Amino acid sequence: MQDRLVTGHIFNIQKYSVHDGPGIRTILFFKGCPLHCRWCSNPESQSAQNELAFNSTRCLTHKACGTCADICPNQAISFSQQEGFPVIERKKCHASLCRERCSSVCHAGALKIFGKYITVEEALREVEKDAVFYQRSSGGLTVSGGEPCFQPEFLLALLSEAERRYLDTAMETCGQAPYEVLRGAAAHLNTLIFDIKHTDASLHKAYTGVENSLILENIKKLCAEFRDLPILLRTPVIPGFNDSEDAIRELCAFVAALPGKNISYELLAYHRLGTQKYQQLGRDYRMGDIKLDNVLMTRLKNFALVQLGERFVA
Ligand code: SF4
Ligand code: SF4
Repeated sequence: MQDRLVTGHIFNIQKYSVHDGPGIRTILFFKGCPLHCRWCSNPESQSAQNELAFNSTRCLTHKACGTCADICPNQAISFSQQEGFPVIERKKCHASLCRERCSSVCHAGALKIFGKYITVEEALREVEKDAVFYQRSSGGLTVSGGEPCFQPEFLLALLSEAERRYLDTAMETCGQAPYEVLRGAAAHLNTLIFDIKHTDASLHKAYTGVENSLILENIKKLCAEFRDLPILLRTPVIPGFNDSEDAIRELCAFVAALPGKNISYELLAYHRLGTQKYQQLGRDYRMGDIKLDNVLMTRLKNFALVQLGERFVA
């Protein structure tokens, strides 16, 4: 099949981003991820299936509306006695199969399906609408997620076609993927952004659902094979998980030992953006009310700067 016709599963296209690679960028968010990080700010990315989200602040309630329950072929929606809001029985809801019936009749915008299918051609046509901004800022396309490597055929077709069209490309990855997929992607990339969350395998598993051995191995291999590729390693600093000098020292030691000419390292502060989406998807946000200590964050950044020198992005 021609690359242009390969289909992928995404949940968002975000324009005018300035945080996910150089310049002004359009981000294509892939659906599905092998990790389930407790702090994930895009919970709608994790499942490889479409998911229904409900926003109660927009709902007109059963008294004024009630349309969504009538149209659901699976009787997945009923109404709460007290407030009159829809109650979604998630086991009965098959959002991937039913073609957005309830969300399409909800004119208040209270129901939304996360997930849609798109071809490489359709995706790049959307991305190319902002070509003028990329030219002025040295920006381009960033693939993110979810995990882009979770859909290898779509990813590689997309990056290859983007390269053919002279688009600058970046990828954000969690690194939990077969090396051959990462390698295939890296060959088409201008920038690689790679999350590295902890060097301790059991803590990594407890907070993300998987151990870190494949991830760490993939980083080492990529840095050795693509020595000229700009690779930005990023650690989200998460309270109770890796917000300590010991954890950052281990991570800095790992980064310092990597081969490659264009490696940099950044610490990102934990934030609580996205917590409302958990509620809308009917899931628990497992970080509770915990907050990051800003003074500690500054201290950890200074600490990393001392450890890594110019490899650290302050
Ligand atoms: S269709 Fe929308 S506004 Fe109406 S009850 Fe359902 S969710 Fe609420
Ligand atoms: S997405 Fe489909 S199956 Fe799920 S509640 Fe809406 S109409 Fe029913």
